[in-house]
Amino acid sequence: MLDVGRHPNIELLAYSEVEGLKGTAGEFTITVRKKTRYVEEDKCTGCGACAEKCPTVVPDAFNEGLGERKAIYSYFAQGIPSTHTIDADHCRQLNGKKCGICAKTCQADAINFDKKDQVIELDVGAVIIAAGYDVFDPSQIPEYHYTEIPNVVTAIEFERLLSASGPTEGHLDRPSDRAVLKEIASLEKQAKKSQKTLARFEEKYNESSASFYDKFQGGQYEGDEDRQKWADKYAAHLAIVEPLESLQKKAEGFTVARRLAFIQCVGSRDFRFYPFCSGYCCMHSIKEAIIAHEHEPETASVIFGMDIRAVGKGFEEYKIRGGNDSNVSYVRGRVAEISAGPDDNPVVTFEDTRERKVKNQAFDLVVLATACAPIKGMAALAETLGVALDPYGFIKTSPLSPVDTETPGIFVCGCAESPMDVPESVAQASSAAERAAEVVFQPEMKEEKAVA
Ligand SMILES: Cc1cc2nc3c(=O)[nH]c(=O)nc-3n(C[C@H](O)[C@H](O)[C@H](O)COP(=O)(O)OP(=O)(O)OC[C@H]3O[C@@H](n4cnc5c(N)ncnc54)[C@H](O)[C@@H]3O)c2cc1C
Ligand code: SF4
Ligand code: SF4
Repeated sequence: MLDVGRHPNIELLAYSEVEGLKGTAGEFTITVRKKTRYVEEDKCTGCGACAEKCPTVVPDAFNEGLGERKAIYSYFAQGIPSTHTIDADHCRQLNGKKCGICAKTCQADAINFDKKDQVIELDVGAVIIAAGYDVFDPSQIPEYHYTEIPNVVTAIEFERLLSASGPTEGHLDRPSDRAVLKEIASLEKQAKKSQKTLARFEEKYNESSASFYDKFQGGQYEGDEDRQKWADKYAAHLAIVEPLESLQKKAEGFTVARRLAFIQCVGSRDFRFYPFCSGYCCMHSIKEAIIAHEHEPETASVIFGMDIRAVGKGFEEYKIRGGNDSNVSYVRGRVAEISAGPDDNPVVTFEDTRERKVKNQAFDLVVLATACAPIKGMAALAETLGVALDPYGFIKTSPLSPVDTETPGIFVCGCAESPMDVPESVAQASSAAERAAEVVFQPEMKEEKAVA
């Protein structure tokens, strides 16, 4: 990525979308909307001082909503260009409220609330679609209760939890425990505030709130408005402190997740959704189980799958290594249901098809290997570019020329075409680049049908 950013022959238009395409192979004109970041890219140094001071906190999409970011943010640390962006949906200033703290903080004078989108036209010889994939939404499988059981996460969410730069700095803290810790932090803040108010009364009457409240409840101080206020404040304080103490007690028992279940083929090889194999998920589950064990040697993982598709050089050996060295076991069978067990532990119901027995097993965390699905905007993008889609919504190609769309001069690579892992996506990208170069450098190939 860094190389792409620095390459003299590559112009990178990040935070941009294609809006139109005219012409024919070799002579396309492409219209691109470069969305405004409200930050001057050439001035922003990426120091992050603005984000530190910004008062608006929103869920962080890069961390799958498991962490938080500010309304001015950098999508992720290694992003190119290394610049910040204002989220226009959440920024106070851009929504008619008074703020502008980021502009006052920025030493580089990079914030520009008046900056507009730019619409650019580019003359290009060929187009390569590399728009990737979206993960299947597992809430479409009601028996897995993804949205209802907090400790059921998708593999992408799990990877963010495992990542040192993620919301838990690589510790496998369970979402249910994180929610409790968040609630504790909020209650502690409220308790501190109410304690301050009580301290004023305690100082005034030279008495502790607890002893005063006993007397107040015994009927003393009837008709005393000031003491009535004190009693109300103390009752409100107790309503904060009592649940706080019980949550603090609960949190004493929190540890990182050590019993992990990986559920394969969630949406893949399922005629209700995508009948095909997504190709990479068996391997990413094994990888995730191995990494989790590296982080915490007491981790034990069970991978539930109809079969484990370790297809590729060294892949089967990697799978066996997971079993031998990383406490990973493999259960052959499709998981029927995930239910909520005691202590926020999800319970997996499955048939072990080797033993021919239906079993229930509780885990600390369940990870869903969700199918590779076409990106949400794929139909609109395909219409804009004038390319056809296959029955599943990926870009249609011919089996004999897997990077050629049906439209001459427009190519595709990676998961925009079909599910594939990174090495395969990279190989396809090279192939698509080669096919595009043929169009650009061989003028006779330009005589193809017009797109629009
Ligand atoms: C949890 C998980 C773990 C994985 N682990 C591995 C692994 O360890 N090894 C491995 O080989 N593979 C792994 N994979 C698979 C890997 O993610 C894919 O093979 C790879 O990302 C495909 O690359 P791609 O470039 O086709 O798509 P992507 O990586 O999805 O990149 C597409 C890019 O296009 C952008 N985009 C989308 N729409 C538009 C648009 N309209 N205009 C402009 N830009 C757009 C997207 O924002 C994105 O940046 C994993 C997958 C998952 C789900
Ligand atoms: S104007 Fe205020 S809310 Fe908006 S990004 Fe700047 S600091 Fe954040
Ligand atoms: S790679 Fe494995 S988990 Fe993914 S769809 Fe294929 S068999 Fe299922």
